[in-house]
Formats: sequence, structure tokens, C-alpha cells
Amino acid sequence: MNRLITVIIIAGITFCCGCRENPKSKDTDVELKSSTKEIFAMDTYMTVTAYGENADKAAEQAENRIHELDAELSTGIEDSLIAVLNKKGSAELTKDAAYLMKCSLELWKKTDGAFNPAIYPVMEEWGFTTKEYKIPDNDILRQKVQLSDASKIKFDENSGRTEFEIDGMKVDFGGIAKGYTSSEIMHIFEENGITSGIVSLGGNVQVLGSKTDGSPWRVAIQNPNDDDSYIGILEIKDKAVITSGSYERYFIEDGKTYHHIINPDTGYPAESGLKSVTIVSDDGTLADGLSTSLFVMGFDKAKLFWSDNSDKFDAILLTDEEKLYVTEGITDSFDSDMDMTIIEKED
Ligand code: ADP
Ligand code: MG
Repeated sequence: MNRLITVIIIAGITFCCGCRENPKSKDTDVELKSSTKEIFAMDTYMTVTAYGENADKAAEQAENRIHELDAELSTGIEDSLIAVLNKKGSAELTKDAAYLMKCSLELWKKTDGAFNPAIYPVMEEWGFTTKEYKIPDNDILRQKVQLSDASKIKFDENSGRTEFEIDGMKVDFGGIAKGYTSSEIMHIFEENGITSGIVSLGGNVQVLGSKTDGSPWRVAIQNPNDDDSYIGILEIKDKAVITSGSYERYFIEDGKTYHHIINPDTGYPAESGLKSVTIVSDDGTLADGLSTSLFVMGFDKAKLFWSDNSDKFDAILLTDEEKLYVTEGITDSFDSDMDMTIIEKED
């Protein structure tokens, strides 16, 4: 049986289509157990699928871990650790939150501030945190941008102790937490002896191994202009594929669209000329952080950033003019009907 599991990334909702029934291991022709969980957490729909003897246990542990991370990290959950940190201005971070703080601050430095974990006051001002959207007053927005100064986060990596040096600062791991979650699920799969598995967290996909017949997983990258089509299909093993796009969360006022990925320099939705950025990497946390970062950077900076870090990730970039660019590391595994330009490493 030719099994195809295609994950289509659609406006925060992920459709996993394909047949999963009676999967067989190629070598033994023995039926492999599979287990799938559909979960709503982190404000998004998620699907977790594991194949193997311990599939049920692995999927259940994955579900528990998702809820655990949600309860710890979500700014929207009133008594979450991050909500408490934002309210009090200080907290002892758990291992998970400390890891995300460390990665976020590293990314903030590496991306020249394009990734900014202290952006939350700006997100609030636009109403993205409550879904009561509004265009902020210019002066207030400027104050919020000043408040979003990640250099004023005092963070001790060893103890997890975190303190904001300015009153009113708030952090948000919305740009990175789902990638961390999918990475954590890969570890859970491995601990349970799973060799084939896939998770999709609101369009963020990460896979373990290959499909049970040994062929690569096929992940469809959504067309930002059309919920029902895709710009291409990527074949992967052991990778995270994470997309950030202006089409994922937005509101329209007076005919203008305002989306949820913010340029930290201006406090306005990033208008960098990119419509979507997909990152392909072994590391889900990095992929998620970078999808947001490269979207903010725009094409030229994104290209340079990839060139300097091509050992860590590959990228698919779609511009506002519908030009498709793919970095050279994935040209053989990405198939598209669109014209695509290959980005090669500069010497
Ligand atoms: P999604 O969460 O929709 O998959 P992203 O990974 O790009 O998309 O994350 C967007 C989220 O990241 C926003 O909802 C907000 O919480 C946060 N965010 C917005 N702008 C930035 C930024 N410049 N740096 C870091 N986080 C950001
Ligand atoms: Mg991201």
C-alpha cells in the first residue's frame, strides 16, 4: 500500500490527510501499532501520531507533555509561570522556561533583535493577546517599543532566576514555544522506542525517522493565498518544518491588513516583503525561532543569515511578489510547480 501522510498548513489549523490504517513494517510485513491524538492547546489544533509497539503510551505521554508546557508557558493562562513572571516582574524559571529564555536571548543577539522575547507589551497594544484588535496610538506604541528591551531581562541560566529591570516589561515565547514542544515530543517518542512519528502543532511539523515503509515523510507547505492549495511538497526525515506567515493571524481595518509578527524596531507588523518563511532544521526550537526572525528580517538579511548558518537550517521563502526561493540544502527534497530560485552559499 502506498501510504502518504500529507500535512497541509492552513491558517493555524493543520490537516493531516492520508491513510494510516494497517501500516506494515517493510522488513517484517508485521502490522505496526499506531496511535494518534488530536489536541487543542497553545491556542491551536495539534495532531500527534506515533507508530510502534509503545505507540499508545508515547502518544499519551506526548499529550500530557503538551498540556504541561501549555500550563507553564502560555501567557494567556492566568497562573502560568510566564503569566506570573509578567505580573510580578520576577520569577524562578523551570527547566523548560529557562531553556526557552536562554534560546530566545541567544536568538535576540544573533538576529540583531529581529527575534525579541520581550515583545509582549506591543502584542497587547495591538490586541493580539485578547483578539480584541485595534490600531494603537502612535505615542503609546512608541512607549511599548521602549519597554520591549530584551537587554533589560536579567536572567541567570544556572538558577533560572529572572528579573525585569524595567517595570511593566513582559515576555512571550509565542514565537518559539511550539517548536520546543515538537522537539520534546520527539524525545518522548525516542524514549518509548518509537522510530516513526509525526507531530503537527498548528502548522508546525516535526517528524521522527521516516514513514514506516522507509520512505520520507511528505509535508505540504501552504499557499498563503489559498487555504486549499500548497506551494510545494517537502520530503523529510528527522526534521522540523516550521512556517511563519502574515496570513496566520491578522485583522483588517480600513482595508489594511495587520498581522501578528512584529518588527521590534517599529512596533508595527513586519512589512519585510516576505509573505511566508519556512525553516527546515533538526532542531524544532531553533526552526520556530528562526521562522519568526527571518520573516522580520526580510529577504536580503534572511539570505545572509542563512549563508552564515547554513549548517543549522534550510529555508523556503515566498515574497509578496510571489517569488519562491529555496536554500541549496533542500533543493533535492522540495518539489514545487512554481518557478523557484535556489539560494546558494556565498563565499
Ligand atoms: P505562529 O505562532 O503563528 O506559528 P510564529 O512562530 O511566527 O507564528 O510566532 C508568532 C508569535 O510570536 C506572535 O503571536 C507573538 O506571540 C510572537 N512574536 C511576534 N513578533 C515577534 C518577534 N519579533 N520576536 C519574537 N516573537 C514574536
Ligand atoms: Mg516562530
